[in-house]
Amino acid sequence: MVSVTEAADIIFSNLYNRRVENVPLQVSVNRVLGESIKADRDFPAFDRVSMDGIAIQYEVWKSGKKEFPVEFVQAAGNQQSQLVSAANCAEVMTGAVLPGNTDTVIKYEDLEMNSNLACIVSKTVEKGQNIHRRGIDCRENEVVLEPGIILSPAEIALLAAVGKIDVDVFQFPKAAIIASGDELVDIKEIPQPHQIRRSNTYAIEAAMMAMNWKAEQFHFPDDKSILLKSLETVLRDHEVLILSGGVSKGKFDFIPRVFEELGIQKLFHQVNQRPGKPFWFGSGQGKTVFALPGNPVSTYMCFYRYVRPWLFRSLGVYQPELTASLARDFNFSPNLTYFLQVAVKLEQGKLVAYPEAGGGSGDFVNLKNVTGFLQLPPETSTFLAGQVFPYIPFRYNI
Ligand code: AMP
Ligand code: MG
Repeated sequence: MVSVTEAADIIFSNLYNRRVENVPLQVSVNRVLGESIKADRDFPAFDRVSMDGIAIQYEVWKSGKKEFPVEFVQAAGNQQSQLVSAANCAEVMTGAVLPGNTDTVIKYEDLEMNSNLACIVSKTVEKGQNIHRRGIDCRENEVVLEPGIILSPAEIALLAAVGKIDVDVFQFPKAAIIASGDELVDIKEIPQPHQIRRSNTYAIEAAMMAMNWKAEQFHFPDDKSILLKSLETVLRDHEVLILSGGVSKGKFDFIPRVFEELGIQKLFHQVNQRPGKPFWFGSGQGKTVFALPGNPVSTYMCFYRYVRPWLFRSLGVYQPELTASLARDFNFSPNLTYFLQVAVKLEQGKLVAYPEAGGGSGDFVNLKNVTGFLQLPPETSTFLAGQVFPYIPFRYNI
């Protein structure tokens, strides 16, 4: 049996060797950037008008002139025109190139427009106002994105702006999610009274989909020879296996033995934690195997506490460690790390965790009220309101 810290250390010292693949920009959201991105031009690429209105020479206004005949219109997408007479103005639109021989933009709200004559009614005008200057946001060839960041819509906009039709991202390991158990039936089926629909593999698949990590699902019975044959095939075609079920002490829990027979070395079996004590972890032949206990809350917690961080570390993604403070006293005496189900609320800018303990590791109905797990250390049995502990979220929209 290992502690939670030891289990995490072992897992994080068996990382996946990241490599790059090229994917279309439009399917890259939530992927991890695998290349440095440079600006292909200045941003903005020209002195950009940032308000609809007129462009003038500031000195002319300063000398007392308030009325400017419109010499031409400079719309967004027009090539730059030059103002011929400084006594005139150019009517300009947001996104247009600032016309030559002008240096200041007055927005319509500060004007009275009488057909082709613009009268400046505001009392204050600042030289250079309402112009988004060329190169002020970033310079051509400047690195704007570094490898290892998760692509959010903000980065997608930047990639689009520099013309990345395709982008290098770190490949996710080819993953299999495997349910094991004779009592499990597919979600399409009507279970017999002694059966249940398998839900864990769907939960894991969804958690992975949220990271844009696609995986294949399998289901095998509690039959050692079938498991041996089937897992051998799955191992051949996948780099990481995430299993749920069949790792406890039951008569039909064959998973650990089967992997050892298949040449996957056990790196630990059993973690001093609740839920998820029977967790088995192994590696070999370049494969990583997370054999999670089948109880739904155990599978779920272990995925967020161990598997997801393993992936992020493998891909070089920085993961801040969150903490939350207990909203009320909580008692737990067994000498193991307890992953308390909590609903976190943001109070005065801090995360406050309300215990929602539920009915144990089989009670996955309770997860609908929960935002994550609070990791309570083994040595203590009374945890006091206000004390701060590591928080493992699985919802981010609190
Ligand atoms: P096990 O780890 O195989 O002993 O399973 C522990 C409990 O989790 C049993 O009640 C199983 O029926 C249940 N279980 C195992 N796998 C799944 C699954 N994929 N979906 C839902 N429940 C499961
Ligand atoms: Mg089972």
